[in-house]
Amino acid sequence: MNLQLALLEKAALENRLAHLLLFHGGSALHQREVALRLAKLLNCSQSMSKRPCGECYACHKISSGNHPDMLCLKPLKTTIGIEQILAWQQKVYLKHYEGKYKVSVIEQADSLTLPAANALLKVIEEPPERTVIILCAQNAEGILPTIKSRAQLVYFPILSEETWLTGLGEVDQREAATAFRLSGGNQNLATSIFGHGVPLLQEWVNKFRTAVDEKDFLKLYSLFPIDKNQAVLYLQVLAVQVQEEIHKGTCRPFEFLAIGKATDLLRQQVNPRLVIEVLASELFQQGGALCD
Ligand SMILES: [Zn+2]
Repeated sequence: MNLQLALLEKAALENRLAHLLLFHGGSALHQREVALRLAKLLNCSQSMSKRPCGECYACHKISSGNHPDMLCLKPLKTTIGIEQILAWQQKVYLKHYEGKYKVSVIEQADSLTLPAANALLKVIEEPPERTVIILCAQNAEGILPTIKSRAQLVYFPILSEETWLTGLGEVDQREAATAFRLSGGNQNLATSIFGHGVPLLQEWVNKFRTAVDEKDFLKLYSLFPIDKNQAVLYLQVLAVQVQEEIHKGTCRPFEFLAIGKATDLLRQQVNPRLVIEVLASELFQQGGALCD
């Protein structure tokens, strides 16, 4: 563990953690893990030397996402809006249910809308007692300066492939390594690919590429049904492949832009089948073959 995280844990154990933390850099998964660990350190019922025990009522409830004093927020669609912050604000000002500390984790905090960020700022300026708010973001630059200036910044270094693999625990290392390669070194994406299942994903992506290469609608139709999350994941992997092929000079930027546009549409809740079909027909028109 790096020194900064060790100091953070020590502060949590000694009940002198800053009331606003801003996690930035590294992987969202790692940020989340550290946030949960801090929540357990603050709320675990064991004596200081045994915290977090991982076994008491508080530790269990935090791990399973059911602790009433642990509030987690993330974008419902692409942003965290004012309604989400106002609903959260009400819960923050309620008295503590059972925990010693109320811990709020706001994931993808760089996706707060401006009104939402201003509402959050009000809470930060007058925080209820024994409250810790943890903002998680890839990039601290995306946070409103008036919020950032009040936070203790905690930087998460980028993990190496080896550290990522070790963090997964006892899993099929070959499959995990393939997931990492398919992600182009993006650990969040690698984790999603691995969670989804590498063979299933590879099969779909290869079939899609064949359907486009051969301009074959029948092959395209065999790719459905898929749900939105699958479609976003598959398109992300396609985008990584195409990007690598553009670097090698075997692919044109058009394909990459078309995939990016399709991903945006999916995030706007457009039907996944429609998005994939439109993408394929655009690629058909560009002369088939996704890349040479
Ligand atoms: Zn415990």
